[in-house]
Amino acid sequence: MGDAQRIPVAILGATGAVGQTFIRLLAEHPWFRVAEVAASERSVGKRYADAAHWLEGELPADVASLTVVPPTPEAITARLVFSALDSSVAGDVELAFARAGRVVCSNAKNHRMTADVPLLIPEINAPHVAVIAAQRARTGWAGALVTNANCSSTVAALALAPIHEAFGIRTLFIATMQAVSGAGYPGVASLDILGNVIPYIADEEPKIETEIAKLLGAVDAGTIRSAEIRATAHANRVPVVEGHTICMSIGLVREAPVEEVRSVIAAWEGAHEAFALPSRPERPIVVDDAPAHPQPRRDVMRGGGMTVTVGRIRRDPVLDVRLVAMGSNTIRGAAGGAILNAELLVERGIVARD
Ligand code: NAP
Repeated sequence: MGDAQRIPVAILGATGAVGQTFIRLLAEHPWFRVAEVAASERSVGKRYADAAHWLEGELPADVASLTVVPPTPEAITARLVFSALDSSVAGDVELAFARAGRVVCSNAKNHRMTADVPLLIPEINAPHVAVIAAQRARTGWAGALVTNANCSSTVAALALAPIHEAFGIRTLFIATMQAVSGAGYPGVASLDILGNVIPYIADEEPKIETEIAKLLGAVDAGTIRSAEIRATAHANRVPVVEGHTICMSIGLVREAPVEEVRSVIAAWEGAHEAFALPSRPERPIVVDDAPAHPQPRRDVMRGGGMTVTVGRIRRDPVLDVRLVAMGSNTIRGAAGGAILNAELLVERGIVARD
């Protein structure tokens, strides 16, 4: 698509940490261009450059001069809307856009577990797009609502998908070490987190336990049936800027030697439906066998922040196998993931090209 043909998109919550990541990633996107930005009353009416505390790199000039509008369908014309809104407001706002005929790709938690709302990672579950038909039949919307998972669920699920496909997963023990950027901006106070670990992130553990099962689930009678996986999660905030590190012990349905599990993960390329999407990295997962990897500082930008690095794959004396997965929370776990989802929706004709 030439510049004039790029699909105009709106970003709701454009001033926040994830909203800014959308703007950075879309600056050079071949199919989409940022045409509208929305945020809270605090920001409405200001130039974007004055409303946002820009965090990284250069703010694209065409976005800098946009005026921030309220997140309502009346104030926005784009047919494709990315939501990076705070969850306190995302629920109703996203419904209003879908009702008004817009396609919403959301990062917020509010609608993730609704059975006819896809919780999408194209490499894992591209066929879940089919439930949009049931969603539209239930609601009467001309638009649609699609979500991406919590950042930790996303990183974990990418490492687990090949294992679940090949052997089945029955039980899962998860401990996360999550970056501060996962809490948005300004997020966690520096005096709380520097030189410290906080062993609590509100609402995080149940999200991880339920979302992974939905991500790895299957379409059944028009809606999504979660995989039958018993999961227990511990979520921790650590003084890392970007990249969630996730330690997992995994109980398999069909036992397999660790070498076979490693080979399956290393060979995995994910669903063919995702192959041609512009934001799909060359490798959704990379296995790194170095003993002290993956590490956020060294590995987080692999595949432009869209690749999850998996390491320390070894036998687990209690369950069957254990490993460490690490990936970008604001790119793969948020804005980049939502953009990849939107690309799939364009390919499927859910979002019109013109
Ligand atoms: P954030 O930095 O706190 O940004 C929140 C955004 O929501 C800002 O643009 C803010 O606008 C807007 N907002 C807040 N209250 C509003 C209201 N009443 N009306 C309209 N807009 C309002 O948060 P974030 O980290 O970017 O997260 C955004 C969403 O993505 C959240 O739902 C979060 O759970 C989810 N998420 C985040 C990550 C991550 O790694 N950070 C990963 C996955 C999912 P103002 O600037 O005008 O206040």
